[in-house]
Amino acid sequence: MSGQPLVIANWKMNGNRQLVSEMAEALREQQQLTADVNVVVCPPTILLPALADACYYDAVAVGAQDVSQHAEGAFTGETSVNMLREAAVEYVLVGHSERRQMHHETDAVVADKLQAVTSSGLKAVLCVGENAEQRESEQTFAVIKQQLQQALSGLTATQLSHTIVAYEPVWAIGTGLTASPQQAEQVHQFIRQLLTELNTNVGEQMQILYGGSVKADNAEQLFAQPSIDGGLIGGASLKPDAFIAICQAAR
Ligand code: PEP
Repeated sequence: MSGQPLVIANWKMNGNRQLVSEMAEALREQQQLTADVNVVVCPPTILLPALADACYYDAVAVGAQDVSQHAEGAFTGETSVNMLREAAVEYVLVGHSERRQMHHETDAVVADKLQAVTSSGLKAVLCVGENAEQRESEQTFAVIKQQLQQALSGLTATQLSHTIVAYEPVWAIGTGLTASPQQAEQVHQFIRQLLTELNTNVGEQMQILYGGSVKADNAEQLFAQPSIDGGLIGGASLKPDAFIAICQAAR
């Protein structure tokens, strides 16, 4: 594991103010856990201020699920990095597969978003991963390499130090199919090698998370792998008890 474990909840387009309160209360009772594990919750944008208020005194960081690559202007419906900063956001997911698939985010757009986030000092969580067809045709490593190179090659060492990578095989997201610990570890090792080739110092330190149907009952085995530094959790992060059990497994 590189550094303190990091576990991030991605609520996607789920949740409400009640879940914000329930999650904040449940995490407040876990002070030792949130001291041992860096916990981040990414609710929908509209709930960011409520989450920031609810977690104000707690060791829980606020994350956003997406951001505009533009600083300001005529971009209806978008949210800028500065707006997220004002809402006390510390982490931003960039290039989640649902954004790539449903909102046609290309590697170039993902690179621009990563630039915007990391140059502002916020931490970016760059999501990469192959789909089922690519895995079956043994393209996994080529796909990951392309996604990483396109996103990271224009970043300075300081920007890289504000970046976290999340390996999320698309075939495992929301499907109940999880990569086996060995499959995940193999890709994480490959990612680590690429990162160190890009920048030896930063590459060795950068955290690499696994995401894709992580649940309380498979988290421990995944997090036990030497190259897995934590997790990005979708469905299972909507229930405070399940999410806390996953954070426990990362300790
Ligand atoms: C995700 O949305 O990033 C994710 C990993 O979802 P799930 O845990 O539901 O597969």
